[in-house]
Amino acid sequence: MGKKLIYYFSQSKCDGNAEMKNLLGSKGANLAEMCNIGIPVPSGFTLCTQVCKMYYNNDKLPDNLCGEIKNFMAILEEDAGCKFGDPNHPLLVSVRSGSIDSMPGMLDTILNVGLNDETVIGLAKKSNERFAYDSYCRFITMYSNVVLQLNHYLFQDILDSARCKNNVESLVDLDVSTLKQIINDFKNIVYENTGKHFPQNINEQLLSSITAVFSSWKNERAVSYRRIHNISEDLGTAVNIQTMVFGNLNNNSATGVIFTRNPSTGEKKCFGEFLLNAQGEDIVSGFYTPLPINNNTMGKLMPEVYEELYIICKKLEEYYKEMQDIEFTVQDGKLWILQTRSGKRTPEANIRIVVDMVNEKMITKNNGILKVDPNTLNSLLHPIFDIQCDKQVIGVGLPASPGIASGYVVFNTYNAEKAVKQGKQVILVRSETSPEDINGMNIASGIMTARGGMTSHAAVVTRGMGKPCICSVNGLHIDKNEGFFVLGEVKINKDDPITINGNTGEVILGILPTILPELSQEFETIMQWVDEIKTIKVLANADTPKDVEIAKKFGAEGIGLCRTEHMFFAHDRINLIQKLIIADSQDERVNALEELEKMQKSDFKEIFSMMVDKEITVRLLDPPLHEFLPNNKQSIKKVANLLGRSIEDIRSKVEQLSEQNPMLGHRGCRIAISYPEIYRMQIRAILSTVYDLRNEKNIVVKPEIMIPFVISEKELILICEMAREEARNFNNVQYSIGTMIELPRAALIADKLAKHAEFFSFGTNDLTQTTMGLSRDDSVSFLDTYKQAGIFENDPFVVLDVEGVGELMKIAVTKGRKSCPELKIGICGEHGADPKSIGFFINLGLQYVSCSAYRVPIAKLVAAHIALNQGHSKFSELTTN
Ligand code: PEP
Ligand code: MG
Repeated sequence: MGKKLIYYFSQSKCDGNAEMKNLLGSKGANLAEMCNIGIPVPSGFTLCTQVCKMYYNNDKLPDNLCGEIKNFMAILEEDAGCKFGDPNHPLLVSVRSGSIDSMPGMLDTILNVGLNDETVIGLAKKSNERFAYDSYCRFITMYSNVVLQLNHYLFQDILDSARCKNNVESLVDLDVSTLKQIINDFKNIVYENTGKHFPQNINEQLLSSITAVFSSWKNERAVSYRRIHNISEDLGTAVNIQTMVFGNLNNNSATGVIFTRNPSTGEKKCFGEFLLNAQGEDIVSGFYTPLPINNNTMGKLMPEVYEELYIICKKLEEYYKEMQDIEFTVQDGKLWILQTRSGKRTPEANIRIVVDMVNEKMITKNNGILKVDPNTLNSLLHPIFDIQCDKQVIGVGLPASPGIASGYVVFNTYNAEKAVKQGKQVILVRSETSPEDINGMNIASGIMTARGGMTSHAAVVTRGMGKPCICSVNGLHIDKNEGFFVLGEVKINKDDPITINGNTGEVILGILPTILPELSQEFETIMQWVDEIKTIKVLANADTPKDVEIAKKFGAEGIGLCRTEHMFFAHDRINLIQKLIIADSQDERVNALEELEKMQKSDFKEIFSMMVDKEITVRLLDPPLHEFLPNNKQSIKKVANLLGRSIEDIRSKVEQLSEQNPMLGHRGCRIAISYPEIYRMQIRAILSTVYDLRNEKNIVVKPEIMIPFVISEKELILICEMAREEARNFNNVQYSIGTMIELPRAALIADKLAKHAEFFSFGTNDLTQTTMGLSRDDSVSFLDTYKQAGIFENDPFVVLDVEGVGELMKIAVTKGRKSCPELKIGICGEHGADPKSIGFFINLGLQYVSCSAYRVPIAKLVAAHIALNQGHSKFSELTTN
């Protein structure tokens, strides 16, 4: 006997369970599990993901599958008490996709399979005529679109004109004779466009539907969705064939979606929507605006269903220990559950849900930590819009996905892509979104639609992406040619700036200013748990007192890199360093250095006092000197005036310092070898600050002085000697001295460097640049080509190249620790906070990672995941490019 390819599920016989997601897909596994625990689910069977793989490998369904499907249909018929194709009492089925990872709306589904000119009469007798022909209309539309690949609008246009002619709002209000006419028109469309009649053979309908749903795994939008969400192409989808239950049977029927907690805020309160007398796709399409599920709506209209639905929500959430997103249908007062899955939610909501569930003792702290994906924290940590400022609100809609976004108006994916390529942020404005818009939605900063409810496609997808969305904006009319939209009295053109507030539903004119976000109490709680678990220190790269303030706010355990040159870049300071660089005489140089020393000292004083008892690594001047000089005619003139020098003087200095490859030239510690007085001044500023703080304020700090761009032991010896000499002037000050490892030669001679350094800090930005021979100042322009060719998996300046740069790091750690076992080693390059790279650093035995302040919580969370998973995390796979 061959492998089992089909799994049955019903209250009385069930082959699967929740653990079988890889085989049955998420929907199939959960349908089986719900049957196992007594939830009312219409019976059905699942063609497993293996069938999808076979379908793609052989370009056809397996030979024996048809016979197998027939056998399972016979069991289903027995369960349902009616027969597929029976002209008097027909069984209808749904054919739904069901991938392993949820891909909302991306794959296809066909409802009401089994209807033809004969069975529709049987269905009408069994129930009512309007319902039967309504279902037939829906079936022809879906089948023609999904299986026959005819454009949905061909059918929509007929429906729209029927609605107009009969002056009614929706399909439900059309009478039977109009529906019959529409069905004729639909069939004509099919004939005109395919040269064939709409298939009346129900077995052909079923098989073609199954094949089409498997094929939808490779449709364009599904492929894009998988690329965006990093889902493997090889997984394939399962297909579920299930007895139809009808939400469009009568006014005691409905269809709906409910989340067991609020997916926008995380509040512990069910949150959902339903539509009376409708089928599932009516809600998701966004075409109709559904009713919220609450005491006053469903509670009054269908009190028993309402009560049962809440009991089921509670049962499923407790069972899965996870917030659930549940699809249901009510058929003539009887509740059926069609799907349950873990609910997509905003990052804020997720954090609140996790903390609440731990407090409710539903999950443990460790499980809670693992339920927060570090990649989702970004949106919580970056500057937010200042909504308190003066603003002009021009419209309001449903706050479908929270957050605030500003950008320039675009009306389609094509224009969104064009604008984003030019470096603009965009707001995508649509009547409603459909899965075709997935690429545009992915690159837009926010989405606004004229139609659709809180569970429409736009709402569900944007919440999953963590970006703001407003649906059903009152009075929003989009120009047919997509040149502008009108909202109330205001006309907004394409490319005009607007802001949308997904927390309140407000549409605001123009771009709002930004401020730092307030972190929620729940966020702080999770970070406390994370601190208890993780095994590596997470420090911040911060250069000014303001940066240090932000780093503290985000929980940095110290400063791993203070780039002193950034202290010079402020507009009121740059002239001091310019004065130093163009000084002709010793006197002028000494004078400029004295002023710089004062300025650095005052910054160090502030920074050191803010980080008492914490590590502080101060890196001495690194960039080439020409970076501080003006680079065009106008600014040369300005600087000449300011410093009282001739334009010629400044220009000739600029020329003299210019280099073809400044990143590989006279920079880093080489400047100190040529002009020792600069590093001496910086060392003095550091040590005298330590001295003053101890003597004046009784504050004891021990900064780490870090030397950049070292390539030789001798460089380090000379600079260490300078430090020792300066330290003699400050009785008993404490400091340590170390080097960056950011050039291949430094990594290779790490044993020699370790004899003079108390610590190493990997500068993986420069180490990547110099190991790979790729410029860090240009984007990797051929990245896409390299990814497609399978040469690079990631941008090496984002995800560490473990195979090459990582190997050099290994050599440096081994050699460094061999010569100096107590050597402290960390990393301060941008890779320090990359979720995919952190696992490598931890396993390499580094003591800290240091990254920009905004990324500290992300790095901490990844480190906690790795600690909980013994060195592994799904966010930290090693890569090979
Ligand atoms: C590095 O090279 O990784 C580093 C941290 O130094 P910078 O980015 O300042 O060159
Ligand atoms: Mg560097």
